[in-house]
Amino acid sequence: MHKYQMYIGGKWCDSASKEWIETVNPYSGEVWAQIPKGTAADVDAAVSAADTAFRSSEWRSLTATQRGKLLCRFGDILAENAEALAEIEVRDNGKLYAEVVNQCRYMTQWFQYYGGLADKIEGSVPPIDKPNILNLTKHEPLGVCACITPWNSPLLLLAWKAAPALAAGNTIVIKPSEYTSASTLEFARISEEAGFPPGVINVITGLGADVGEALVRHDKVRKVAFTGGEEGGKRVNLAAADDFTRVTLELGGKSANIVFDDADMDQAVSGAISGIFAASGQTCIAGSRLLLQDSIHDEFLERLLDMAGQARIGDPMNPETQVGPITTEPQYRKIMDYIEIAKGEGAVCVMGGDSAPAPDGNKGLFVQPTVFSGVTNDMRIAQEEVFGPVLSVLRFTDEEHAIEIANDIKYGLAAGIWTQNLKRAITVSDRLEAGTVWVNTYRSTSYTTPFGGYKASGLGRENGMEAIKEYLQTKSIWLSTGSSVANPYMRR
Ligand code: NAD
Repeated sequence: MHKYQMYIGGKWCDSASKEWIETVNPYSGEVWAQIPKGTAADVDAAVSAADTAFRSSEWRSLTATQRGKLLCRFGDILAENAEALAEIEVRDNGKLYAEVVNQCRYMTQWFQYYGGLADKIEGSVPPIDKPNILNLTKHEPLGVCACITPWNSPLLLLAWKAAPALAAGNTIVIKPSEYTSASTLEFARISEEAGFPPGVINVITGLGADVGEALVRHDKVRKVAFTGGEEGGKRVNLAAADDFTRVTLELGGKSANIVFDDADMDQAVSGAISGIFAASGQTCIAGSRLLLQDSIHDEFLERLLDMAGQARIGDPMNPETQVGPITTEPQYRKIMDYIEIAKGEGAVCVMGGDSAPAPDGNKGLFVQPTVFSGVTNDMRIAQEEVFGPVLSVLRFTDEEHAIEIANDIKYGLAAGIWTQNLKRAITVSDRLEAGTVWVNTYRSTSYTTPFGGYKASGLGRENGMEAIKEYLQTKSIWLSTGSSVANPYMRR
């Protein structure tokens, strides 16, 4: 049994409560580690350490170039540890090792990219319309930034926040999900090797309602970058509003994956499957609403069922496995509830629709890849995020109808279009209310490309050049070269 500690001000410590949360391996169903159950007092210690580090000469006197190099070095050390980090993350969240190890290697790019950007954050000299004034604008860090992450991709989603926050010169307090904190604590250990001054990176663990909320409400936290569900996102937004703390919210989705009759069928079938059964559907960008044009509906569905019906369920560490366990017990119950809801609503279960036994006597929780056809857009199974391997199939007649169905939902995280018609790809992607639209591909993200939601799927953007602005504030400096003081009773 591994017993982890939190990382505050460069020191490893237990929580003030001396209580622990058990961490379960979703495949074996066994407890494999304990993490500290943090309290508001721990939050205060972590934020104070981050605030002290933010004001310290050790951090502030680093030039932007030195800060950037530090981030790049961190990225290099993370890359050297990618396999070990991936193993821990799989033990924590049960996602396929083959995917997680790629994510762990890939996340290092965020530190290289934003490390490179650190000394390119330039201000401007606006051509001011007043005499004898030199006007400068500069972009400054905000201070302590809170990074709150979910259980489905803890490290990758942390990199999306930590890399731009640190590159901009902020300090951070990380609060990983109570289900999957171990890999983030290892991330902190690796940051020590990179040589960050103490307090620049801190990790507190515990429940969202305790430490998460206390972190958002802390008066020294200047920005919260949150990835998680709708309810948590709402609470974070409301709590942050109390003292005007900035937020970036990356929330849920119910993305439409739209297949037109001119699509490359083989490609589209793979795309539809990767949209929903990869990561056992536990991904915010899941293409959980498959929209099929009438004329290809039956043939497409048949091909999809053929391929998805062969998915190998099993040990996430086994490279042959295609569908792994459900990460948490509450999530498993939620998925099973939605399967019942869909059946009750009259959707036709054409594949799966039940739990699956964990292989080799393990106690993990599995759900069969499940497909409902005959779904209409007013059903809950079409409107609500399941976050599991459950696909809703809807029919449409033409472009207009597809767009209407795709947009008739409160979410707007992502969408997919499968067509060989360029004009259609452009016009439909223009009209979809989603932060990301993939055409003839699905589930790609990059450090270079802004990512975020429309509507209830979030606020702000992560990744790309845009994300750095989320961690900066702009100051205007007015320098007078005039020799006489103008009328002091007049605005200049
Ligand atoms: P969650 O909202 O339950 O928890 C996310 C994090 O927030 C956890 O660390 C949790 O402890 C913390 N938290 C919960 N309540 C809080 C509060 N009141 N104040 C502060 N922190 C709080 O989400 P989850 O179940 O861990 O993750 C699944 C959800 O995340 C899904 O809805 C999924 O769509 C979403 N998600 C979104 C993206 C994206 O980029 N848009 C990516 C991955 C996951």
